[in-house]
Amino acid sequence: MDLLSTAYSADAFRRQAHALVDQLADYLQSTQDQSTQTVIPYQSPDDSYQYWQADFEAGTGDLNAFFEDVIKRSTHLHHPRYMGHQVSPPLPVAALAGLLSGLLNNGMAVYEMGLVSNPLERIVSELLAQRIGFDPQTSSGLLTSGGTLATLTALLAARAVQAPDLWQDGTQEKLAVMVSEEAHYCVDRAARIMGLGADGIIKIPVNNRFQLRAELLEAYLEQARARGFRVFAVVASVCSTSTGAYDSLPAIADFCEQHRLWLHADGAHGGAVVFSDTYRHLVSGIERADSVVVDWHKMLMVPALATSVIFRRNDDAFKTFHQQAQYLWADQQSTDWFNSGKRTFECTKLMMSVKIYAVLKTYGEQILAENIERLHALAAYFADAVTKAPDFTLALRPESNIVCFRYQPQNGEVDGNELNSRIRQRLLEEGRFYIVQTTLNGNLYLRISIMNPLTTTGDLDALLDEIRGVI
Ligand SMILES: *Cc1c(COP(=O)(O)O)cnc(C)c1O
Repeated sequence: MDLLSTAYSADAFRRQAHALVDQLADYLQSTQDQSTQTVIPYQSPDDSYQYWQADFEAGTGDLNAFFEDVIKRSTHLHHPRYMGHQVSPPLPVAALAGLLSGLLNNGMAVYEMGLVSNPLERIVSELLAQRIGFDPQTSSGLLTSGGTLATLTALLAARAVQAPDLWQDGTQEKLAVMVSEEAHYCVDRAARIMGLGADGIIKIPVNNRFQLRAELLEAYLEQARARGFRVFAVVASVCSTSTGAYDSLPAIADFCEQHRLWLHADGAHGGAVVFSDTYRHLVSGIERADSVVVDWHKMLMVPALATSVIFRRNDDAFKTFHQQAQYLWADQQSTDWFNSGKRTFECTKLMMSVKIYAVLKTYGEQILAENIERLHALAAYFADAVTKAPDFTLALRPESNIVCFRYQPQNGEVDGNELNSRIRQRLLEEGRFYIVQTTLNGNLYLRISIMNPLTTTGDLDALLDEIRGVI
């Protein structure tokens, strides 16, 4: 057989795929029982590059040996001592759906290229819209590649609704959005991409719990108007990335309604709590937002990237990109739900809905609630443990699964920033835990986000001991 026929052969695929599944099952086992002690096999970027460059120069080789190498040299999100950035350890069924959709590769943008994934996208969007509290008859949603692109998509819709001529005529007036100074940097980036410039991003100060101070919105709006800006949207962080603080949606929604501004709820991380009866109160008022973003690849156990943008009014979703593409859509103007490309930035896009649907089909919505509740309970436990430990301090009582804290032994004069920076670097090099850091009010804090429901309270106690031991 020639090379291409061999490469596409069903027999070769069967053999390689079975071997890969065995490798991944062994991997899951060894992380979960912690027979693999390394969470992050850290290497400097240059060393890692050199390793792979040598591998590449060695020419073609065995696929499963390559996969083994990738597994071994990656950060292990399924390890219970992974507590770093907010990315899920995906459920195995969602990863299998990823394999499935990777091979089928239906491109989504038009119904004919997403016969299954477009209806599934509508179903998962309707479910999320309902949990948010939107009217299922008049709301709608879509999936896109990540919270960053989702935020841009939502803000473009906001602008299209508030300044409808701009898409055709280009920028005529100075537009601005208001956002907390703790918001994710993607809001800033989206605003700059939209041409608002630095002055078009109005940062509202936060209170001592890192929440947007809604009582200042009025004064900031007046100031912006006096400087010739038209504010068209307010972004609420639910929750913020750094500390996991939830902005007050009812107060911000009141303000937006009063001034007819678009309210965008950035729930990339925390919006997931709509699936939990216990934690839904954190986002009460979210049903008053005009648009909401929720990442399925954070607290909802789906592999990256898979993000929902949900609009309170279906019509708004179709205003974002009114564009001609004769070869794609026979009817440009109709608001048909099944041609996903009409509402997304992406043309060809991943079959994300299949991964989400696989989780729901296998385990039901219940598993989402259980995961959220487990992660929050673990964070609360850890916050208690830090509070009780005389040599640690807590930055603030966590509202979510994100905890910021620092090591602060009482003995002698120490520079807390230097000490905690050194601790984080040592943890990275030792690799037995993976945690990150953040800066709050100019001080460096250690930061964990508990993403793995198989993390135990024992692992959290062990983290405090590990920190004491590495310095
Ligand atoms: C993670 C996050 C984002 C960015 O989402 P990506 O999926 O990483 O692009 C935006 N906002 C908040 C609040 C986040 O936590």
